[in-house]
Amino acid sequence: MESEPLTLHSRKSLNLRYNVPISKTSRFWDGLKEGKFVTTKCKSCGEVSFPPQADCPKCMSGEAEWVDMGTDGELLTFTYVQVTPTSFVESDPYTVAVCRLPGGQKVLAWTEGLTREQLKVGMKLRLEARTRSEGSPYYVFVLR
Ligand SMILES: [Zn+2]
Repeated sequence: MESEPLTLHSRKSLNLRYNVPISKTSRFWDGLKEGKFVTTKCKSCGEVSFPPQADCPKCMSGEAEWVDMGTDGELLTFTYVQVTPTSFVESDPYTVAVCRLPGGQKVLAWTEGLTREQLKVGMKLRLEARTRSEGSPYYVFVLR
């Protein structure tokens, strides 16, 4: 029988800090502050991307226009996260949902104000913008 390699386990916590460049997609974040959801549509092939893309993932064109995504979602699937990953260790258990918006984009977000018993595939949810205490915008699904 092969023996396990010797390993050293550390119990130190690791803080990760992300700096995501958003200069070409800043309009999305600006829209969130006004409660609007916009994303990129390729001027060459018409592909609508979400999250917004600086360059089209289908034809690689760098020419995009902004289109309104709306906020009315249809619940496609969801999962209740009871054992939270390390990066959310401070969070209570939470539910993540995927909804389809009117333009066909699939959006993943946490749900807010809904128990997992209330969630049913096919139900109508609404995308809403929020702002964290430190000022960064995010979005959630709520009952509509
Ligand atoms: Zn394209």
